[in-house]
Amino acid sequence: MNTTSFDVLVAGGGPVGWACALAARCALGNASRVAVVERDALPDAKSWTADKPLSARVYTVAAGNLSWLAGQEVAFDPARCAAVSEMRVHGRNGAESLHIRAADTGEDELAHVIEHEALTLAIARAAVQAGVLLVRGEGVDLYDGGDIGVEAKLLELADRNLLQARVVVVADGVQSRLRDAAGLMTSHHAYPQHGVVANLIAGSAHRGTAAQWFVPDGSILALLPLPDIAGAPAVSMVWSTDPRRAAALCAMADDELLRAINAACGGTVRLRAVAGKPRSFPLNLLRVGNPAGKRVLVVGDAAHAMHPLAGQGVNVGLADARCLFDLWRGVAMAADDPGHPLLLGRYRRHRYGPTLAMQMTTDGLFRLYNQPEHPWLMAAGDAGMRLFGRVPAFRRTLSTAAMQ
Ligand SMILES: Cc1cc2nc3c(=O)[nH]c(=O)nc-3n(C[C@H](O)[C@H](O)[C@H](O)COP(=O)(O)OP(=O)(O)OC[C@H]3O[C@@H](n4cnc5c(N)ncnc54)[C@H](O)[C@@H]3O)c2cc1C
Repeated sequence: MNTTSFDVLVAGGGPVGWACALAARCALGNASRVAVVERDALPDAKSWTADKPLSARVYTVAAGNLSWLAGQEVAFDPARCAAVSEMRVHGRNGAESLHIRAADTGEDELAHVIEHEALTLAIARAAVQAGVLLVRGEGVDLYDGGDIGVEAKLLELADRNLLQARVVVVADGVQSRLRDAAGLMTSHHAYPQHGVVANLIAGSAHRGTAAQWFVPDGSILALLPLPDIAGAPAVSMVWSTDPRRAAALCAMADDELLRAINAACGGTVRLRAVAGKPRSFPLNLLRVGNPAGKRVLVVGDAAHAMHPLAGQGVNVGLADARCLFDLWRGVAMAADDPGHPLLLGRYRRHRYGPTLAMQMTTDGLFRLYNQPEHPWLMAAGDAGMRLFGRVPAFRRTLSTAAMQ
């Protein structure tokens, strides 16, 4: 059988997949063979002129992840990201219930909002520079190398080629085909909401403030800082709402959409124009009980998708990559066998608690505020948030958590 052999093979070249490949190469050294298998082409940076419109899909990447990425030589195009220094959360009556500031912890920034393509490309560039190979193809199945007498996992591509690795890291997103091929138990719940994303021109500067509204109808609206668009202040909208409303928002004329957004945020932020077409994404709560199988690991959204209300999906995935980096760098045997069961077992133990805690927090908040028929529950949530929001130690804890 003709197979190409790797130490670490990452299936799926989204931001998390590339970060795991970068982590492997930086931790295991120049002799390691690391590759990413991706079915789509990488974003083409050569076509990115200064006036190329920003994509509507952006992520809030926490300061802790940014500094780890910077440590691995990942550099972002400043024209495609914006710093977040404050977050304001508004309850269902529009009043502010929580105000978190980076300054509370003596820092300048909590996070950066970065365009999806710019984030993926920046991490991929650093990984390729570090020696990671890109294999264009679609992974379709996984096999245990033990069946043919090798301590490895085999990944079959759609063109029937087989790749062999000491460990396969599955990072093919929430609809993961390879998670199922790995035979790992998964629980999945589709939220009764879709996330509508769009870039908007604002009437005034955002001053690095991300804002969120828990709207009485149970929907959740977030406006995140963006770099200026054509010289005008801009924000990115993520509006989580029921699928019919999401489809209606995507089909609205610009002025109708702006009226709907301005009404939902109680006129706090004046929005002037829509820049590009809104897009809608289904929202999922998905969890793999044990992300580590025999010579296989599942990471990123393939292992743990969550509601975007805390903007943490990509951050938890990047934390997976950081965990792998620490394990591979810290244990001598990793250079010989990065897929050793001891390492995969440690990975599972390290990531279990933090991932579960973040999923429970986002799901709990969603459930608390998605109660249009029980307004008293939402009112209790508002009151609790306002009360805790007055306690400086609580605000500091939240600022620190938002930055990790
Ligand atoms: C509306 C919305 C807003 C969001 N906002 C935020 C936010 O503000 N902050 C945040 O942290 N997160 C946010 N998220 C979550 C974020 O999108 C995900 O957490 C993130 O994309 C996960 O990255 P990933 O690399 O795991 O998966 P993906 O980004 O889905 O990448 C998977 C990759 O695998 C490739 N692939 C798939 N199948 C195969 C295969 N069989 N073989 C080879 N390649 C394959 C795909 O082409 C893709 O490139 C948001 C999500 C939604 C829906």
